[in-house]
Order: sequence, then structure tokens, then C-alpha cells
Amino acid sequence: MEKTIHIAVVSSPGFSHLVPIIEFSKRLLNHHPNFHVTCIVPSLGPHLESSKAYLKTLPSNIQTILLPPVNKDQLSGVGYPGFQIQLTIVHSLSSIHEVLKSQFSKAPLTALVVDVFAFRALKFAKEFNALSYFYFPVSAMLLSLFFHETKMDEDVSSECTDLAEVIKLPGCVPVKRVDFPDAVQNRSSELYKMYLQVAKAMCTVDGILINSFLEMESGAIRALEEFGDMKNKLYPVGPITQKCSSNEADECLRWLDTQPTCSVLYVSFGSGGTLSQEQINELAWGLELSCQRFLWVLRAPSNSASAAYLETSNEEPLQFLPSGFLERTKDKGLVVPSWAPQVLVLNHKSVGGFLSHCGWNSVLESVQEGLPLIAWPLFAEQKMNAVMLTDGLKVALRPKKNDEGIVKKEEIAKLIKCLMDGEESKGRRERMRNLKDSAFKAMKDGSSAQALLQLASHWENFSGI
Ligand code: UDP
Repeated sequence: MEKTIHIAVVSSPGFSHLVPIIEFSKRLLNHHPNFHVTCIVPSLGPHLESSKAYLKTLPSNIQTILLPPVNKDQLSGVGYPGFQIQLTIVHSLSSIHEVLKSQFSKAPLTALVVDVFAFRALKFAKEFNALSYFYFPVSAMLLSLFFHETKMDEDVSSECTDLAEVIKLPGCVPVKRVDFPDAVQNRSSELYKMYLQVAKAMCTVDGILINSFLEMESGAIRALEEFGDMKNKLYPVGPITQKCSSNEADECLRWLDTQPTCSVLYVSFGSGGTLSQEQINELAWGLELSCQRFLWVLRAPSNSASAAYLETSNEEPLQFLPSGFLERTKDKGLVVPSWAPQVLVLNHKSVGGFLSHCGWNSVLESVQEGLPLIAWPLFAEQKMNAVMLTDGLKVALRPKKNDEGIVKKEEIAKLIKCLMDGEESKGRRERMRNLKDSAFKAMKDGSSAQALLQLASHWENFSGI
């Protein structure tokens, strides 16, 4: 009988950090049934409904262990989701250690794979004689920024305040500093210090798995391989996205069934992105003005763009729409409160474009369906993703904000028309279709499939540290 190879995976709180690492585990097990994965899931406050529903769908060879949630009061006053997530891990370290002890005191652990924000759990790998890996669920370009910032921090002591400065990360499209994640713009912030710690930890692990693929980010990936001894440590295994079974009862999908092919713009800001009330009004008016069909996942307003990332709001979102909007647009659009089965929506033949906040999962899901985007970034590294999509890959349009930081209705309507059927939309669609084909090939038997194979055979041949 083939011996079982045990892998432990530590996710981070938040739906979009849980799904990619678990989907990676599913893919590993599909191709290598002699593996067994134990997935350890921390949470800030009660485990999210979206996460629990997702975990119920997993096959039996993935064992999931939900850790006791960290009390939110312990993190009161901590603003950025990235920092909250990381502190949740700090508070969960003893529970993570307990799980590892209970599971792997007898059965040998081959590898410990942790989400980027769970990097502090990597210290346990040595104790269990296991190999250690980062799972980086975002772009190679962001990975490159982590290394760049470490170097900058060593070379330049003062704060870089010129937000218009254009930075050329190796192999990447040029990005203005203003489009870097907020944390990088403030060197004295705790989150910035965390970035540096992550970058340092990355240099010590046995490998970095990255949810991207060579054909989409060849420049960045090749440049990263040249960095230090990264050549044999980098595994671009993506695009790994959520697999969903069809749901005929779902309101969005039934509505899409009644719409013409490629006619609908899907509008969503990820698992927790929010707009201000003023911006919700402008978006509503912009959609109306564009006369385009749309499916909009609406959340209650907030002045903090990441307000709903780790929280579920109980407010009814539809009450925040401009008066009469639903009535006036009922033949053209559907607005659903808070959540839609995004992967199935994007896969529907009636959807022809995606207005997205450019979270990396949404980007990859759009690529997998060959859908061009309106890139409307909100927080974290989303502005960098938007630059890659618009200036680099040229598969997206990015709206301009006015001096108050609002995208006005005229701008929204103009971009929607241009995306869905303007003359240059053909080129954009064609480039996206090519990217979709490369993604498919990479996963079938191309670069990403090879990277996974290489990693799995390394694990199979590993005989202890
Ligand atoms: N998602 C979904 N339905 C929604 C909103 C989001 O299924 O209504 C999923 C989406 O398919 C993606 C994830 O949630 O897999 C969002 O991840 P992303 O990285 O795009 O953004 P984040 O949530 O990190 O801001």
C-alpha cells in the first residue's frame, strides 16, 4: 500500500484567505490521492457563515479543524483587516500548536503550509520535522513588492512621501507609489512592520506557493526566480479558484437565464468591500444612465471600504438605494443583498463584463471566464491589481475619481458602455480570451500543473529533516 503523506495547512481568517488554500488542498488531493490534508482554520469572532457553508462542501480526505474564535475585544482599536488577521493568528498560536501536537505526535508531518498572514505558525514546522511553505494567495507582483520593500527599508531610512513616484518592480508594469497598499505608504505603521517580517520569513522557508500563473505574470515570476535562491522555491500553481456545483434555485442564476448572451455587467466588491452612501448613489445613477443590463451585489454603506471584510452587517442593503431606482431599472437589472454565487454568475453565458474591486480571487475568476473588467479597487493590494489589469494586461478600464474621491455617474456610465460594446472593447475581450486559454492550459498540463507535480514529488520523496 502507498504510504500516506500528511500535510497541515493553516488558513487565515476571512473568506478570501480560506478558499484559495483549501482549493489548493483539493487540487493536490485530486491529483495525488495518497496525500491527507489537515486544515486548521482560525477566526476572529464567530466563524463567518460564508466560510462555514463552504467548509461543509469539502471531501472527506480534507480534515478541517475550526479553532476557538479569538475574541474581538482583544483586538479593539486595530484598524486594517490585514493587521487584524495577523493578530488573530498570534492569539491562535497556542491552539494551532495543540492541534499539531494532537494530530502529528505519531503520524509524521511532511509539510506545514501557511497562508501569508499566518506566517507566525511557521515556527512549528521544525518541531515536527516538517518542511515549511508559504501559500501566497495573491499576485507575483505583490510578492515582488514585499522583497522590494525589505530592500528599500535597508537602503533608505526616510519615509518615501512622493506618492506620484513611479516604481518599476522587476518584471512588472510600472506602478505609482499611490497605488501601493496603504501599509507600504506609511513606514511607521504596524502593518508595514508586519510586511517586513513576512518578507524576512519568506527567505527562510522551503518554498512559496503562489496563486498565479506564468503566462499571466511571466515578467514578475521570472524576476522573482532570479532573486536569491528563489529558483527552486517558487511554485506558481494558479489560477486556483473556488469550484461550485450549480444551484438552479438561486435567484441570480434564474434571472441570468432570462437575459441575452453576454449582455449583463456583474457588479461586486468582493467578500467585504463597501462603498459610502454617496458612492452607492453615484453607482446606481451610473448604471441607470448606461442603460446596460446589470447584476449588482449590494452591501450596506460604510465610510471604511473594508468594513464588512471580517464582519457581517445586519442592515438591509436595498434600503440604501436612491429612491425609485429599483422600480426604474427593473427591466434591466437585479440588485441582490450582500452575496451572490460569484463563480457561477461569472460562468453564466449572459454575463459579459465584471465591475470588480480587483481582489485577487475575483481577478482570477474573471480571467478563468475570459471576462473584461472595470477595475474599481478599494483597499489592500487591489490598486496594484488594477494597474496590472489596465496598464499591463490591458483587459480592464479604471474609472477616475473626482477631487472628493468619488467616481461620478457620468464616468461610470461612460466606462460601462465602453467595456460592454465600445469599438476597442473587442481587443480587450480578445486579450482576455487569450488569457483564459492560457489559464486553462496552465492548469491542465502546463506550467501550473507541472509546478504542483514537482512540489508533490518533492513531498513524496521527503524523508525528514
Ligand atoms: N464572493 C462570492 N460572492 C460574493 C462576493 C464574493 O462568492 O457575493 C467570493 C468571490 O467569488 C471570491 C471571494 O469571495 O472568491 C472574494 O475574494 P477577493 O480576493 O476577490 O476579494 P476580498 O474578499 O479578499 O476583498
